[in-house]
Amino acid sequence: MNNILGLHHMTAICGDAQENIDFYAGLLGLRLIKVTVNFDDPTAYHFYYGDGAGSPGTVLTFFPYPTAQSGRQGAGQVVITSLSIPESSVAYWRERLDGLAVESEDGHALDFADPDGLLLRLVPDPNYKLAAPWQKSAVPVEHQIAGIHSVTLRENEVERTAALLMKVLGFDHDPDIEVPEYVFFTGARGLGQRVDISTIGFASARPGKGTVHHIAFRTPTDETQAQVRTDLIGVGASVSEVRDRDYFHSIYFREPGGVLFEIATDGPGFATDEDLESLGTSLKLPKMHEPKRAQIEAALPKITYPNA
Ligand code: ZN
Repeated sequence: MNNILGLHHMTAICGDAQENIDFYAGLLGLRLIKVTVNFDDPTAYHFYYGDGAGSPGTVLTFFPYPTAQSGRQGAGQVVITSLSIPESSVAYWRERLDGLAVESEDGHALDFADPDGLLLRLVPDPNYKLAAPWQKSAVPVEHQIAGIHSVTLRENEVERTAALLMKVLGFDHDPDIEVPEYVFFTGARGLGQRVDISTIGFASARPGKGTVHHIAFRTPTDETQAQVRTDLIGVGASVSEVRDRDYFHSIYFREPGGVLFEIATDGPGFATDEDLESLGTSLKLPKMHEPKRAQIEAALPKITYPNA
Protein backbone atom coordinates (compact mmCIF):
# COMPACT_ATOMS: atom_id res chain seq x y z
CA MET A 1 0.00 0.00 0.00
CA ASN A 2 1.15 3.53 -0.76
CA ASN A 3 1.51 5.64 2.36
CA ILE A 4 0.56 8.75 0.38
CA LEU A 5 -2.49 8.51 -1.89
CA GLY A 6 -2.29 12.01 -3.37
CA LEU A 7 -3.47 15.43 -2.26
CA HIS A 8 -6.04 15.71 0.53
CA HIS A 9 -6.82 19.45 0.66
CA MET A 10 -5.53 22.93 -0.07
CA THR A 11 -5.88 25.71 2.51
CA ALA A 12 -5.68 29.42 1.67
CA ILE A 13 -6.20 32.79 3.32
CA CYS A 14 -9.11 34.87 2.10
CA GLY A 15 -10.66 38.19 3.02
CA ASP A 16 -14.42 38.56 3.24
CA ALA A 17 -16.19 35.41 4.49
CA GLN A 18 -19.43 35.82 2.51
CA GLU A 19 -17.58 36.71 -0.68
CA ASN A 20 -15.62 33.47 -0.32
CA ILE A 21 -18.82 31.43 0.14
CA ASP A 22 -20.49 33.11 -2.82
CA PHE A 23 -17.50 32.34 -5.04
CA TYR A 24 -16.76 28.72 -4.11
CA ALA A 25 -20.24 27.45 -3.19
CA GLY A 26 -22.01 29.75 -5.66
CA LEU A 27 -19.98 30.34 -8.81
CA LEU A 28 -17.83 27.19 -8.65
CA GLY A 29 -20.74 25.09 -7.40
CA LEU A 30 -18.79 23.24 -4.71
CA ARG A 31 -20.54 22.01 -1.60
CA LEU A 32 -19.81 23.95 1.59
CA ILE A 33 -19.15 20.87 3.70
CA LYS A 34 -18.01 22.37 6.99
CA VAL A 35 -18.22 25.69 8.77
CA THR A 36 -15.98 25.76 11.79
CA VAL A 37 -13.29 28.01 13.25
CA ASN A 38 -9.54 28.04 12.93
CA PHE A 39 -8.78 25.58 15.75
CA ASP A 40 -5.65 27.58 16.61
CA ASP A 41 -7.47 30.94 16.46
CA PRO A 42 -11.25 30.68 16.99
CA THR A 43 -11.77 34.37 16.15
CA ALA A 44 -11.61 33.30 12.48
CA TYR A 45 -13.85 30.96 10.53
CA HIS A 46 -12.55 27.89 8.75
CA PHE A 47 -14.61 26.99 5.66
CA TYR A 48 -14.31 23.66 3.86
CA TYR A 49 -15.64 23.06 0.34
CA GLY A 50 -15.63 19.81 -1.61
CA ASP A 51 -17.67 17.39 -3.65
CA GLY A 52 -21.06 16.18 -2.42
CA ALA A 53 -19.49 14.12 0.37
CA GLY A 54 -16.33 16.10 1.11
CA SER A 55 -14.24 13.24 -0.23
CA PRO A 56 -10.50 13.48 0.51
CA GLY A 57 -8.77 15.07 -2.50
CA THR A 58 -11.72 17.32 -3.34
CA VAL A 59 -11.35 19.72 -0.43
CA LEU A 60 -10.50 23.44 -0.59
CA THR A 61 -10.41 25.25 2.75
CA PHE A 62 -10.15 28.91 3.70
CA PHE A 63 -9.36 31.04 6.73
CA PRO A 64 -11.18 34.37 6.24
CA TYR A 65 -9.12 37.26 7.64
CA PRO A 66 -10.85 40.41 6.32
CA THR A 67 -8.19 42.78 7.67
CA ALA A 68 -5.15 40.76 6.55
CA GLN A 69 -2.83 42.32 3.99
CA SER A 70 -3.11 41.11 0.41
CA GLY A 71 -0.54 38.46 -0.39
CA ARG A 72 1.32 37.68 -3.56
CA GLN A 73 2.14 34.33 -5.11
CA GLY A 74 5.85 33.63 -5.43
CA ALA A 75 8.79 31.40 -4.57
CA GLY A 76 8.25 29.01 -1.69
CA GLN A 77 4.51 28.90 -2.28
CA VAL A 78 1.84 26.96 -4.05
CA VAL A 79 1.20 29.34 -6.94
CA ILE A 80 -1.56 27.54 -8.84
CA THR A 81 -4.27 25.20 -7.60
CA SER A 82 -5.67 23.19 -10.50
CA LEU A 83 -9.14 21.67 -10.40
CA SER A 84 -10.41 18.78 -12.49
CA ILE A 85 -13.32 19.28 -14.90
CA PRO A 86 -14.69 17.03 -17.69
CA GLU A 87 -12.94 17.45 -21.04
CA SER A 88 -16.30 18.40 -22.57
CA SER A 89 -16.98 21.18 -20.05
CA VAL A 90 -14.52 23.88 -21.10
CA ALA A 91 -17.09 25.92 -23.04
CA TYR A 92 -19.57 25.65 -20.16
CA TRP A 93 -17.02 26.94 -17.67
CA ARG A 94 -15.71 29.70 -19.93
CA GLU A 95 -19.24 31.02 -20.18
CA ARG A 96 -20.02 30.50 -16.49
CA LEU A 97 -16.88 32.38 -15.43
CA ASP A 98 -18.04 35.17 -17.73
CA GLY A 99 -14.80 36.86 -18.73
CA LEU A 100 -13.01 35.95 -15.50
CA ALA A 101 -10.98 33.14 -17.10
CA VAL A 102 -8.21 33.26 -19.67
CA GLU A 103 -6.64 30.38 -21.54
CA SER A 104 -3.63 28.89 -19.75
CA GLU A 105 -0.20 29.23 -21.34
CA ASP A 106 -0.50 25.90 -23.15
CA GLY A 107 -4.00 26.83 -24.37
CA HIS A 108 -5.43 23.76 -22.71
CA ALA A 109 -6.92 24.96 -19.43
CA LEU A 110 -8.75 27.98 -17.98
CA ASP A 111 -6.87 30.29 -15.62
CA PHE A 112 -8.63 32.66 -13.26
CA ALA A 113 -8.38 34.17 -9.80
CA ASP A 114 -10.79 34.17 -6.89
CA PRO A 115 -11.95 37.50 -5.37
CA ASP A 116 -8.77 37.68 -3.24
CA GLY A 117 -6.43 36.94 -6.15
CA LEU A 118 -5.81 33.24 -5.44
CA LEU A 119 -4.78 31.66 -8.74
CA LEU A 120 -6.93 28.75 -9.90
CA ARG A 121 -6.93 26.62 -13.02
CA LEU A 122 -9.69 24.42 -14.45
CA VAL A 123 -8.09 21.47 -16.23
CA PRO A 124 -10.05 19.40 -18.77
CA ASP A 125 -9.05 16.06 -17.33
CA PRO A 126 -8.95 12.79 -19.31
CA ASN A 127 -9.00 10.98 -15.94
CA TYR A 128 -12.00 13.01 -14.68
CA LYS A 129 -13.96 11.13 -12.03
CA LEU A 130 -16.58 12.76 -9.81
CA ALA A 131 -16.73 10.69 -6.62
CA ALA A 132 -19.83 12.29 -5.10
CA PRO A 133 -22.00 14.68 -7.14
CA TRP A 134 -23.53 17.62 -5.28
CA GLN A 135 -27.21 17.55 -6.16
CA LYS A 136 -27.98 21.06 -4.87
CA SER A 137 -25.16 22.71 -6.83
CA ALA A 138 -25.90 25.52 -9.27
CA VAL A 139 -23.51 23.67 -11.61
CA PRO A 140 -25.14 20.70 -13.40
CA VAL A 141 -23.67 17.34 -12.34
CA GLU A 142 -22.15 16.74 -15.80
CA HIS A 143 -19.97 19.86 -15.43
CA GLN A 144 -19.09 19.71 -11.73
CA ILE A 145 -15.54 20.12 -10.46
CA ALA A 146 -14.29 16.70 -9.34
CA GLY A 147 -11.61 18.01 -6.96
CA ILE A 148 -7.95 18.97 -6.92
CA HIS A 149 -6.26 17.95 -10.16
CA SER A 150 -2.78 19.10 -9.06
CA VAL A 151 -0.86 21.94 -7.50
CA THR A 152 2.06 23.96 -8.85
CA LEU A 153 4.88 24.82 -6.45
CA ARG A 154 7.13 27.76 -7.29
CA GLU A 155 10.60 26.89 -6.05
CA ASN A 156 13.97 28.61 -6.34
CA GLU A 157 15.60 25.25 -6.91
CA VAL A 158 14.01 21.92 -7.65
CA GLU A 159 16.37 19.28 -6.34
CA ARG A 160 15.64 19.04 -2.63
CA THR A 161 11.89 19.34 -3.04
CA ALA A 162 11.97 16.74 -5.81
CA ALA A 163 13.96 14.41 -3.57
CA LEU A 164 11.38 14.76 -0.80
CA LEU A 165 8.48 14.10 -3.20
CA MET A 166 10.19 11.03 -4.61
CA LYS A 167 12.03 9.49 -1.67
CA VAL A 168 9.49 10.10 1.09
CA LEU A 169 6.10 10.85 -0.47
CA GLY A 170 6.27 8.23 -3.23
CA PHE A 171 5.96 10.47 -6.29
CA ASP A 172 7.80 9.81 -9.57
CA HIS A 173 9.20 12.46 -11.90
CA ASP A 174 7.86 12.21 -15.45
CA PRO A 175 10.69 13.48 -17.68
CA ASP A 176 8.47 13.40 -20.78
CA ILE A 177 6.41 16.36 -19.63
CA GLU A 178 8.38 19.60 -19.84
CA VAL A 179 5.64 22.21 -19.42
CA PRO A 180 5.71 23.22 -16.66
CA GLU A 181 9.27 22.28 -15.97
CA TYR A 182 8.91 19.40 -13.52
CA VAL A 183 5.92 17.11 -13.18
CA PHE A 184 5.55 14.42 -10.53
CA PHE A 185 2.90 11.71 -10.33
CA THR A 186 1.86 9.08 -7.87
CA GLY A 187 -0.57 6.17 -7.97
CA ALA A 188 -2.71 5.82 -11.09
CA ARG A 189 -2.25 9.54 -11.96
CA GLY A 190 -5.82 10.25 -10.88
CA LEU A 191 -7.31 13.09 -8.86
CA GLY A 192 -4.71 14.93 -6.77
CA GLN A 193 -1.95 12.57 -7.80
CA ARG A 194 0.14 15.21 -9.54
CA VAL A 195 2.48 17.92 -8.23
CA ASP A 196 4.23 20.37 -10.56
CA ILE A 197 7.32 22.38 -9.72
CA SER A 198 8.21 25.54 -11.59
CA THR A 199 11.40 27.54 -11.05
CA ILE A 200 10.43 30.43 -13.32
CA GLY A 201 7.89 33.25 -13.26
CA PHE A 202 6.23 34.98 -10.33
CA ALA A 203 7.67 37.78 -8.22
CA SER A 204 8.78 37.37 -4.63
CA ALA A 205 6.16 35.88 -2.36
CA ARG A 206 4.23 37.69 0.32
CA PRO A 207 1.87 35.77 2.60
CA GLY A 208 -1.64 37.15 3.04
CA LYS A 209 -5.06 37.17 1.43
CA GLY A 210 -5.20 35.27 -1.83
CA THR A 211 -2.28 32.97 -1.08
CA VAL A 212 -2.09 29.30 -0.18
CA HIS A 213 -1.34 28.65 3.48
CA HIS A 214 -0.52 24.97 3.07
CA ILE A 215 -1.34 21.82 1.14
CA ALA A 216 -2.17 18.47 2.65
CA PHE A 217 -1.43 15.01 1.29
CA ARG A 218 -3.67 12.03 1.99
CA THR A 219 -2.59 9.04 3.99
CA PRO A 220 -4.96 6.11 4.59
CA THR A 221 -4.58 5.53 8.34
CA ASP A 222 -2.92 6.67 11.55
CA GLU A 223 -0.42 3.84 11.07
CA THR A 224 0.64 4.93 7.57
CA GLN A 225 0.87 8.50 8.88
CA ALA A 226 3.20 7.35 11.65
CA GLN A 227 5.35 5.61 9.02
CA VAL A 228 5.54 8.79 6.91
CA ARG A 229 6.41 10.77 10.03
CA THR A 230 9.27 8.38 10.77
CA ASP A 231 10.45 8.61 7.16
CA LEU A 232 10.37 12.43 7.29
CA ILE A 233 12.38 12.53 10.50
CA GLY A 234 14.79 10.12 8.82
CA VAL A 235 15.56 12.70 6.13
CA GLY A 236 15.96 15.48 8.66
CA ALA A 237 12.56 17.15 8.40
CA SER A 238 11.22 18.96 11.44
CA VAL A 239 7.76 17.42 11.80
CA SER A 240 5.00 18.37 14.23
CA GLU A 241 3.33 15.95 16.59
CA VAL A 242 0.02 14.50 15.40
CA ARG A 243 -2.76 17.09 15.79
CA ASP A 244 -6.41 16.09 16.01
CA ARG A 245 -8.32 18.21 13.47
CA ASP A 246 -11.60 16.38 14.30
CA TYR A 247 -12.21 15.46 10.63
CA PHE A 248 -8.70 14.07 10.11
CA HIS A 249 -5.43 13.74 11.99
CA SER A 250 -2.53 15.86 10.80
CA ILE A 251 1.20 16.33 10.92
CA TYR A 252 2.95 19.40 9.50
CA PHE A 253 6.41 20.21 8.19
CA ARG A 254 8.05 22.66 5.77
CA GLU A 255 9.40 21.14 2.59
CA PRO A 256 12.93 22.31 1.68
CA GLY A 257 11.65 25.13 -0.57
CA GLY A 258 9.51 26.60 2.20
CA VAL A 259 5.98 25.39 1.40
CA LEU A 260 4.07 24.15 4.44
CA PHE A 261 3.07 20.51 3.88
CA GLU A 262 0.56 18.55 5.92
CA ILE A 263 -0.07 14.82 5.96
CA ALA A 264 -3.75 14.21 6.77
CA THR A 265 -5.54 10.93 7.38
CA ASP A 266 -8.54 10.04 5.20
CA GLY A 267 -10.65 9.45 8.29
CA PRO A 268 -12.70 10.04 10.28
CA GLY A 269 -14.17 12.48 7.69
CA PHE A 270 -16.66 15.33 7.80
CA ALA A 271 -19.78 13.39 8.86
CA THR A 272 -18.52 13.02 12.43
CA ASP A 273 -20.28 15.97 14.10
CA GLU A 274 -23.24 16.33 11.69
CA ASP A 275 -24.78 13.85 9.27
CA LEU A 276 -23.99 13.75 5.57
CA GLU A 277 -27.26 15.47 4.57
CA SER A 278 -26.70 18.49 6.79
CA LEU A 279 -22.97 19.06 6.26
CA GLY A 280 -22.07 22.74 6.29
CA THR A 281 -25.40 24.09 7.50
CA SER A 282 -24.36 25.33 10.94
CA LEU A 283 -21.28 26.37 12.88
CA LYS A 284 -19.39 23.38 14.27
CA LEU A 285 -16.84 23.87 17.04
CA PRO A 286 -14.20 21.49 18.32
CA LYS A 287 -14.82 20.31 21.88
CA MET A 288 -12.14 22.60 23.32
CA HIS A 289 -13.94 25.71 21.99
CA GLU A 290 -17.56 24.57 22.56
CA PRO A 291 -17.80 26.12 26.08
CA LYS A 292 -17.13 29.53 24.49
CA ARG A 293 -19.66 29.13 21.67
CA ALA A 294 -21.71 32.24 22.52
CA GLN A 295 -18.64 34.49 22.59
CA ILE A 296 -17.17 32.94 19.45
CA GLU A 297 -20.41 33.24 17.49
CA ALA A 298 -20.90 36.86 18.55
CA ALA A 299 -17.43 37.81 17.32
CA LEU A 300 -17.66 36.09 13.90
CA PRO A 301 -19.16 37.93 10.91
CA LYS A 302 -22.68 36.81 9.99
CA ILE A 303 -22.87 34.57 6.94
CA THR A 304 -25.62 33.11 4.77
CA TYR A 305 -25.38 29.31 4.68
CA PRO A 306 -25.87 28.28 1.04
CA ASN A 307 -27.38 24.85 1.81
CA ALA A 308 -29.45 25.62 4.88
ZN1 ZN B 1 -4.77 21.56 6.43
